[in-house]
Amino acid sequence: MSTFKAPPKKNLGQHFLSDRSYIDRIVMAVNPKPGDRLVEIGPGQGAITFPLLKKHGELTVIEFDRDLITPLMEASEGVGRLTIIHKDVLQVDFSRLAGDEGPLRLVGNLPYNISSPILFHALEHAGAVRDMHFMLQKEVVDRMASGPGSKVYGRLSVMLQAYCTVTSLFDVPPGAFRPPPKVDSAVVRLVPRPAAEIGIADPALFERIVRDAFGQRRKTLRNALQQVCTGADIEAAGLRPDARAEQLEVAEFRQLATYLGSLPPGARPA
Ligand code: SAM
Repeated sequence: MSTFKAPPKKNLGQHFLSDRSYIDRIVMAVNPKPGDRLVEIGPGQGAITFPLLKKHGELTVIEFDRDLITPLMEASEGVGRLTIIHKDVLQVDFSRLAGDEGPLRLVGNLPYNISSPILFHALEHAGAVRDMHFMLQKEVVDRMASGPGSKVYGRLSVMLQAYCTVTSLFDVPPGAFRPPPKVDSAVVRLVPRPAAEIGIADPALFERIVRDAFGQRRKTLRNALQQVCTGADIEAAGLRPDARAEQLEVAEFRQLATYLGSLPPGARPA
């Protein structure tokens, strides 16, 4: 049997989880049930993969590092049915992967250098995803889960919370990994909201409002959103033009997007 011989690759964000207690906590948080379609992003040397496979019997993993493919396959023999997709996760069409067989449950100790692109990629396929349990930099998880008034409340918080419920589960120190990363980590659970609950008719308009509003977070909405709408529009949507983005609830961003989207074509943001 070949083992995992290649040294960790920095450019692929390889920090392998080695503390059994945190691995167990992740498996407990995922709590797979018969019939669940588990997909792990970045299995690495299998720290989370094999406990999950043992518990659930089958698992699909997406790994970009070719040096890990054969060792993963060999190590899975006798443990369970492991399907390996050797690809960049950003090129994987989760909707296609889910097919007609039910939504996916995504799990992963994500490569931190591309964690935000992975989150937004998963959001694009939110209809094919039942939930996500991800290990990320704690600083990113804090931003994802924060609310109005917090210094770290921003674009990431609003975009994710508009489409998912976000729950920070627990923190993980650098010493739990080999090699240890420079920062603290945390595990977060994301559960995509049902389409009817999201209530965003024009996702591109919503995204633009959020991006511009936080692009200049010290400015009032009236000034930050100059390219999108007028102060009168903001008022007509039921919001204060002199408020700042960091004071607005997710629902208020949605309210503004709904109002602007309902304007006649000439008055709507281009
Ligand atoms: N799950 C393992 C663990 O907890 O020990 C490894 C986690 S390590 C932080 C991230 C993993 O993602 C590595 O195995 C790395 O090779 C893989 N990876 C990095 N970029 C990737 C990409 N674009 N697509 C798929 N996997 C990727």
